[in-house]
Amino acid sequence: MSKFERYQKKGESYYVYPHKHCKTCGQMIEESLTYCPDCYKKIKEKKSKKKKKDKSESKKNKES
Ligand SMILES: [Zn+2]
Repeated sequence: MSKFERYQKKGESYYVYPHKHCKTCGQMIEESLTYCPDCYKKIKEKKSKKKKKDKSESKKNKES
């Protein structure tokens, strides 16, 4: 085991964890994610805006 530990420590400087890149901005993210936290927030906000029409309703009324 000690041999492995030494090897891992040596490789730490260049070893990169399994990762993906954000589909939107290309930022390095966890392998289990699809978007970085920033873009994920934006996407979530967009989705919730579609569902919540309370505030934007008055503005949309003028448009339509
Ligand atoms: Zn992103």
